[in-house]
Amino acid sequence: MKTIQDIDINGKKVLIRCDLNVPINNGIITDDNRIIQSLKTIKYVLKYASNVIIISHLGRIKTEDDLKNNSLKIVCDRLSTLLNENIKFCTYDEDIKSIIDNNKIVMLENTRYFDLDNKKESNNNEELSKYYSSFADVFINDAFGVLHRDCASNSVSKYLPSAIGFLVEEEINKLSELFNPDRPFTLILGGSKVSDKIGIISNMIEKVDNIVIVGAMAFTFLKAMNYNVGQSLIENDYINYAKDLISKYNDKIILPKDIYQSDDVNSSDKQLVDINNISKKGFDIGPNTIEYIKEKIKNSKTIFVNGPAGVFENPMFSYGTKELFNILSNMDSKVIIGGGDSASAAINFGYKDKFYHISTGGGASLEFLEGKVLPGLKYIGD
Ligand code: ADP
Ligand code: MG
Repeated sequence: MKTIQDIDINGKKVLIRCDLNVPINNGIITDDNRIIQSLKTIKYVLKYASNVIIISHLGRIKTEDDLKNNSLKIVCDRLSTLLNENIKFCTYDEDIKSIIDNNKIVMLENTRYFDLDNKKESNNNEELSKYYSSFADVFINDAFGVLHRDCASNSVSKYLPSAIGFLVEEEINKLSELFNPDRPFTLILGGSKVSDKIGIISNMIEKVDNIVIVGAMAFTFLKAMNYNVGQSLIENDYINYAKDLISKYNDKIILPKDIYQSDDVNSSDKQLVDINNISKKGFDIGPNTIEYIKEKIKNSKTIFVNGPAGVFENPMFSYGTKELFNILSNMDSKVIIGGGDSASAAINFGYKDKFYHISTGGGASLEFLEGKVLPGLKYIGD
């Protein structure tokens, strides 16, 4: 794969596709990790290129209202501060070419603005890729979080000399280590849906020594073992799949022993119950489960985590997610966190520098580990 250091950017106009899709709440960026992770490539390009043009998507655009709420302007301001450089923000009704000629760094508006017109960005419209390519001499794709999407801003690589940026390079290098892990190798899966994780389960089950299943996913597996799971979130369509896995890989699969349940996720009341006594909705794992997991994975040399152990966004149900991170951070093993929500939980709970790698991509890291060719890398040569 051609990397940013393998391509000539000297004195060139360089278009960088970043993933600056950060969570924003009431006009405030709540986690700027993706912006921070993009700095290395941007700084490097700034040093050598004549002009830097940055593009990214932000959120989903389905209506005119989404346009207003998903402007990249606020991200542009944060990036300007972090870079300590003035970045010229540019909308699509301006004369982009002359703005680029007159400014060292330009950020264009959200690429998904073009989704209002027949989903041009998300449906990989060729004209849109060409349009973006017309602004530059070289294209750098550093948007790891969207490499699994066939979108027009990724396909710019069809029309310009292209390479991956430092962030994508690091993600690929670190995640590739999971193809040949030091053993024992443990996979910890959580989050809300079995259906999201089925690819990784099927792909990794033969390769891992342990698979810990927590989060809402665990209830589909407990149900498959005939436990009463109360009103916990389950996916009926996957019960047979879970049964099948349990029968084949019983010795590898580690499920909760106790959980915190409640009537409602926003309730101020919760009970700790054994998995034999679930009567409400399970939103977190309990201390016996934590001890059990700790014992089972204590010798693991490599651990990949995808999905939180509970509804971590709510402090009432963040216990399991925090405790699990705490155990992992104290282990002498290579820990890689690979889901969007699990990554932001790890960072928000103070584990930013405690793990070997926290991926900036959820879906992209999963598809990469499933062995799929990521569409964003398809046209970047060797
Ligand atoms: P990631 O982005 O890390 O891959 P997912 O997107 O699969 O994770 O899942 C994250 C979501 O799962 C979180 O919003 C969290 O609240 C939810 N979740 C975790 N455990 C439960 C549970 N027991 N019941 C309902 N939702 C849960
Ligand atoms: Mg998620």
